[in-house]
This record gives sequence, structure tokens and C-alpha cells, in this order.
Amino acid sequence: MNLWFTEYQNENLIIGCRLSKTLHYEKTPFQEIMVVDTVQFGRMLLLDDVIQTTVADEFVYHEMITHVGLNTLPEPRRVLIIGGGDGGSVREVLRHRSVEKVTLVEIDRGVIEAAKKYLPEISCGLEDPRAEIVIDDGIRHVKENKNTYDMIIVDSTDPVGPAEGLFGADFYRDVYGALTESGLFVAQSESPFFNRDLISRIIGNVRSIFPVVRLFLANVPTYPGGLWTFTMGSKKHDPLEVDTGKIAPLGTKYYSPGLHRACFVLPPFVKELLK
Ligand code: SAM
Repeated sequence: MNLWFTEYQNENLIIGCRLSKTLHYEKTPFQEIMVVDTVQFGRMLLLDDVIQTTVADEFVYHEMITHVGLNTLPEPRRVLIIGGGDGGSVREVLRHRSVEKVTLVEIDRGVIEAAKKYLPEISCGLEDPRAEIVIDDGIRHVKENKNTYDMIIVDSTDPVGPAEGLFGADFYRDVYGALTESGLFVAQSESPFFNRDLISRIIGNVRSIFPVVRLFLANVPTYPGGLWTFTMGSKKHDPLEVDTGKIAPLGTKYYSPGLHRACFVLPPFVKELLK
């Protein structure tokens, strides 16, 4: 069989994967949802023809968007995830015993339903009694819930359509307001090769609101360029001051105490984005 999926990153670059099967297609009011089976990465979730996650490499992204922030806080109890309808971030947050409740605010119920049906290894945490699922716009949710969450995770699609507002200064201000006194947030902040202006803008916006701002990296093979950035804004705790010797083992496959420190070591071309 010679069936390929191609993601058009820009007019000069496409990313391709050989498919063995299309499992699901649906058009919702927000986007086109597809689940396909790929030869290289196993099952893959696509939204508007953009790769969101695959069974083979999802652990990198989901472990890094959650544990770096959670292990920076002494005792995180309430966690909010905006987006993240595949459930991978919920599954990782639930590894932390101090977490009493994780609230997932996803705008598109279709993503959650597709993940539950076709990606059980990623979505398994969504049925946990500590997980609460809210179908709503994350932008509205942070505006309406003040001083509520110890950590907010912005597990969003790229900055187009309903996710566009999740990258703006007004949103980060509302995130600040929705966090408890010494809370922090982590957001996926795209590729240091292809989204340089956007990352600089995010850093500038977050710096104007949060006293501690850090950028960290992970390698996600199915994202354009592989290398991916995450931005942290914190009211008080600095991830670089964590005693990594005290980080409890979590059974993770990418994140580790050593990597908690190492992921903040930026190559000069990435460091430039912080200026
Ligand atoms: N790991 C992914 C990536 O970086 O490609 C993100 C995956 S997750 C599936 C992204 C989710 O964010 C989508 O399901 C989308 O529906 C949701 N989303 C986009 N904008 C949103 C908003 N304003 N509020 C809540 N969820 C939103």
C-alpha cells in the first residue's frame, strides 16, 4: 500500500508519513479530526491536517509539559489543562499524588471522544475520579476562575482558529489571575526553527506579567523540526532552584531529575530568542 499523509508546514516544507489505515474522520464546528494508523509511529491524531500526537512519541511532549512544572511546585493540588483533549497531559498529571483534582478544559468534545475510542493508551486518565472534564473555551475559563489553580498547562493547537487567543498577552494576564499565590503555568510554544518571532513575542508578553520566566526544550520527532519549546511563567518558584536529588521517581520515559535541569540549557540560537 502506498498511501501517505502530508502535513504542509509552510510553502517550502512538508512532513510525510506512510499510512496503513484511516480509522476516523469527522468535521466538528471547530476543526477536522482524523485518527490514522501510520507505519512508523502507530496511531496518530490529526486536527486540520496537523499532527497533534502519536502513540510512539507522545510521551516526550506529555511528560515535559507536565512534570517540569509540577516538580517545581512543593505540593501542587489543583491543576488546569487548557486544550489537551487527547488526555496525555491528564494521564501524566495524575502520576503526582499531591494532585487532588485535574480539570481539563477542551473546546471540542469530538477530540475527547475520538481519543477515548482510538487512543486508549493516551486517554486512559480521562476516566480517573480525580479528572474533571469541562467542554468550554479555555480563554473564558481562566477569566472566570480567579485564584484557583496551582498550575495551568496550555496544551494547545498552533496559534490559529480557537487557539490564537491562547498565545496573547490578555490571556497570560488572565492565567496569572487564575493561579494561586505561588502558582505557575507551562505552555507549548512551538518550534525554535520555524516560529522564532512568535516565541520572542510569547517571552516578551509573559515577562511583562510573571517575575520568573523560563524557556525549555524537548525533542518530539513528529513535530516540525523535532526540537520543541515550552514556556514557563511562575509567580514565585524557579525550576532552576529545584533540588533535583529530591525529585521522586515517576516511571517516566523521557523526563528525569537530570533532564529537569538539562532541558533549560539552550543552544545559542535558541537563547537569542530571550533577548
Ligand atoms: N500536543 C498537541 C500539539 O502541540 O500539537 C496539542 C494537542 S491537543 C489535541 C490541542 C487541543 O487544544 C485541541 O484538541 C483543540 O481542540 C484544543 N483547543 C484549541 N483552542 C482551544 C481553546 N481556546 N480552549 C480550549 N481548548 C482549545
